[in-house]
Amino acid sequence: MIQRQVATLQERFRGCLVGSMIGDVIGAVVEAESPEYIAHTYRSIDEILTAQSVPEFTGPAWQVGRFTDDTQMMICVAEWLLDGEPRSPERLLARFADACEPWRRYGPGTEAILRLYPEHKAEWRQLATAMFPYGSYGNGSAMRVSPIGLACYSDAKTAASIAVDSSRPTHSHPLACQGAVLQSLAVAIAAGTASGEFAPGAFLQPFRASLTYFSDLMQDTSKFVRALDAIEQGLEHGTSCRQMSSVLGTGLAACEAVPTAVYCFLRHPDSFARVVHEAVFVGGDTDTIACMAGAISGALLGAAAIPEHWRRAVREEEYSVDAIEKLADRLFEKYAGAR
Ligand SMILES: [Mg+2]
Repeated sequence: MIQRQVATLQERFRGCLVGSMIGDVIGAVVEAESPEYIAHTYRSIDEILTAQSVPEFTGPAWQVGRFTDDTQMMICVAEWLLDGEPRSPERLLARFADACEPWRRYGPGTEAILRLYPEHKAEWRQLATAMFPYGSYGNGSAMRVSPIGLACYSDAKTAASIAVDSSRPTHSHPLACQGAVLQSLAVAIAAGTASGEFAPGAFLQPFRASLTYFSDLMQDTSKFVRALDAIEQGLEHGTSCRQMSSVLGTGLAACEAVPTAVYCFLRHPDSFARVVHEAVFVGGDTDTIACMAGAISGALLGAAAIPEHWRRAVREEEYSVDAIEKLADRLFEKYAGAR
């Protein structure tokens, strides 16, 4: 258990959304690379951020400082939460479709759903299974749920139910929904940790409890149960994030990326910079792992924990770091300001 300076709740809201964006921006530079390649090429995050651009498989080079689909969809979720009722999954899908800029590296399944939606609005429920018969089990819904964890920071049950609603339009597979629920819970618990005391057990127990909701629905939760067991053992033995990532996985599946992001955070709960460093250097789906780990760490430590020169590395106009902070402030006003 560690003692630390406690950030205000408003600072934590900012830290979460900005932390999520910064993780995405940094992780995007080395997305899909192996940990060996990343360690061989760069010594630090600062070195990664000195690059101006990196080649893409197709199309123009990736400009360092831009965010990917993770942040674009996270903004949609935040605005959906700020919008009036009814808060329907279809209205979220409409926001995703409207905002989508495919060059931000959308997965082909999600990109197809968002492209088809305007012409097939009446069949929006079927679109999620048009590409994959049981729906996608990717991490594409977990990566965008942080605003839900903030809005429901004091109500884990509501966070879980809204996270499932937010997953369904594009990621309807039970494993994607389970991953989205765990990530939203991680943010909710981090933001709601009221005292200066933090213990990893405070996270793992509610995670396990949330999985019983899915097993009661006869869903297979064994992948996440095994991951939580491994996380607990890893923390007990002080296993490094890199070693643990080879057990948990760093791929596109929610059951790999979410546990790895959670482990990076739990292993270094007192340092945002260390969490994002570890999440990027494990390789694989680095933008999403760092985005999720950064969101949890920022929600615990607050925006002041994010290195200033990393914030300055973001090169976005409409959704600058300041704009994301304002978005966090609006969420705070609506969901926590009156308390
Ligand atoms: Mg991405």
